[in-house]
Amino acid sequence: MGGLNLSLKKGNTHLTTFKVGQVEIGKDFVVIAGPCSVESEEQIITIAKSVKASGANMLRGGAFKPRTSPYSFQGLGEKALIYLKRASEITGLPVVTEVMDTTDIELVSEYADVLQIGARNVQNYSLLKAVGKTDKPILLKRGFSTTLEEYLFCAEYVLNEGNSQVILCERGIRSGTSKNNVFDINIIPTLKRITHLPVIADPSHGTNNRDIIIPVSLSAIIAGADGLMVEVHSNIGTALSDVKQQLNLDEFSNLSKMIYQTFQFRNCLK
Ligand code: PEP
Ligand code: MN
Repeated sequence: MGGLNLSLKKGNTHLTTFKVGQVEIGKDFVVIAGPCSVESEEQIITIAKSVKASGANMLRGGAFKPRTSPYSFQGLGEKALIYLKRASEITGLPVVTEVMDTTDIELVSEYADVLQIGARNVQNYSLLKAVGKTDKPILLKRGFSTTLEEYLFCAEYVLNEGNSQVILCERGIRSGTSKNNVFDINIIPTLKRITHLPVIADPSHGTNNRDIIIPVSLSAIIAGADGLMVEVHSNIGTALSDVKQQLNLDEFSNLSKMIYQTFQFRNCLK
């Protein structure tokens, strides 16, 4: 892979780890859970309390939403950031939320512990350079059709600005004319083999189908993922975005138990 920075080269045995709250990303298994979008203060607090009790160690929730249709719910913006912070203070869970634009980085950074770069923005190089100048960890989603090499270069845009705290995240790719994404399991062990960065899996966007989130999550763990990001909603039928791919609170609680067992099993395979 000509041109790639040494930092990602094979043979570098030093794995990148960094702390977000109590969790050491890249070492501890990170479970990020929460709704696709923050819809109200009550909604995010209810979900945060429940996922925390089930074992999540980070809270997600969209404030600025990159929606395919301009007519869909666009997120509550700063209000959502305030609600997320409140939920974080109550539960102690650090917050990850998306930043869509360079002009929002300062605002989102006031509230978030981790900045998410979404699939649609993974090759927005000015945004990557700008978040690379912050001291916030960056959760960098893979795009719908980003090749392995393109994805590594995206990570390097952030690293080269001096920010070494990057988390890679497989979130499904496009396949033919299917409306649903296909989770690319291959990229998990591949990224683990050729980079030193933590790699997590997003089985919600990776499947668009709540019925298969659990088996895909467990497969990602066996494949070597350092964590999961799962969409969870307290009232799945009424979600304002990604209504088909969020687990309810009980389903997430079941998944959490299976995550633990699967992680133990993976350790036995070593
Ligand atoms: C999300 O996490 O809600 C999201 C929009 O993800 P992606 O960028 O992977 O579509
Ligand atoms: Mn979503």
